[in-house]
Amino acid sequence: MAKVLILGGGFGGVVAAERLAEQLGEEHQITLVSRSRNFIFYPALVRLAFGKCNRDDASFDLRQAMLHRRVNFIEAEVARIDPHDKKVTIAHGEVEGKLPYDYLVFALGRRLATERITGFFEYAHHLLNVDKAIQFGKAISALREGHAVIGQCQGARLPVPVYETAFALARRLEERGERDRVKITIVEPNGRDTTLGDPATIVLNEALVAHNIEIIHNFPIEKVTANSASTKDGHTVDFDLLMMVPPFRGSSAASYMGTTEHDGYIMVDSTLRVVGQEGIYAVGDCVNFDGPKLGHMAVRQGEVASANLAAELAGNAPVSHYSHEMKLVIDDFGSDSIYLHKDMWTDEPGSVRQGRFWSWAKRVHQRYFEFQHF
Ligand SMILES: Cc1cc2nc3c(=O)[nH]c(=O)nc-3n(C[C@H](O)[C@H](O)[C@H](O)COP(=O)(O)OP(=O)(O)OC[C@H]3O[C@@H](n4cnc5c(N)ncnc54)[C@H](O)[C@@H]3O)c2cc1C
Repeated sequence: MAKVLILGGGFGGVVAAERLAEQLGEEHQITLVSRSRNFIFYPALVRLAFGKCNRDDASFDLRQAMLHRRVNFIEAEVARIDPHDKKVTIAHGEVEGKLPYDYLVFALGRRLATERITGFFEYAHHLLNVDKAIQFGKAISALREGHAVIGQCQGARLPVPVYETAFALARRLEERGERDRVKITIVEPNGRDTTLGDPATIVLNEALVAHNIEIIHNFPIEKVTANSASTKDGHTVDFDLLMMVPPFRGSSAASYMGTTEHDGYIMVDSTLRVVGQEGIYAVGDCVNFDGPKLGHMAVRQGEVASANLAAELAGNAPVSHYSHEMKLVIDDFGSDSIYLHKDMWTDEPGSVRQGRFWSWAKRVHQRYFEFQHF
């Protein structure tokens, strides 16, 4: 009998747990540890902020879903991993304990390094949890005139909600007949976005122009006050409403494993095994692949890692390899919605589609995900 421990109940952890429950015999014990008993469907949070869906559409009962699949669920904070003793230290309230494992799947996502931006915590809105999205929604409703600034901090690696927020705000103001009263600006830390590739950037820029949304490149914000955001070299933008994606870093729980790169992301090979570790896999936002951090990548990595872990447990060689692809929809809530599919490990420019269909497809995908997993 093997003890298989999955850390993190997000996209990567849930899919890995489900697949392992399907693939491993009943003699093996599968346990998932996560700090909350709810799963958050992050791609719905822009729609939640704009009142286009409810809290229940973005948050699902993880504990029940796991128990239905014979996966034990522990609600606790993961503090550290000790790969030598094969134990994970967890804490719940005042209680601390150690969980032994034979195999581990690390899926704790990314850390929000808000401390890197002075004033971020006090003055910037963000969309990185349900309560913050609802709070941002209230600020949107109160905005009647002025300047809305939306963007990513250096290292954020999450462009989708930035563009979606700008489009949703533009449409909301158009509906209210107040578009002329609010200027909308996107700030990007880097130069012209090369992450999405040229074809997508061209289509995206046309959509921004159509919605009268300004974009400023090379604007890495490092300080925020109550009404302005500034860069290290002294450039400042004033705002009445600010929504930023904070810098991302790897999970702090990984730092003791000694297998992380400079930003704290875990180094894995294409089978999703952690480099230099026995019996440990890592999936999702916590791993060191380049480009944006996306849910579908975490899902695919959860599938690959679970297939290889099951093979390893049976004494076989890895059966699956991960190929790093970016698939995303930037929903403009209308006919300018964009779909992009790009292979991240080649120089191919990627394929781009545009139209109202993709807005609909994104909503349908969310329903399908809920139906499949919860
Ligand atoms: C606003 C927003 C919009 C997005 N839009 C899209 C989109 O349109 N398309 C797309 O593909 N992706 C999108 N993403 C990105 C996507 O949500 C992430 O890539 C995905 O959630 C990563 O999955 P994961 O399993 O690695 O991490 P997560 O989903 O973050 O899961 C990590 C889990 O680990 C738990 N955890 C973390 N630390 C600890 C700890 N120390 N102890 C115990 N538990 C812990 C967390 O509570 C969570 O349950 C969006 C993200 C955001 C925030």
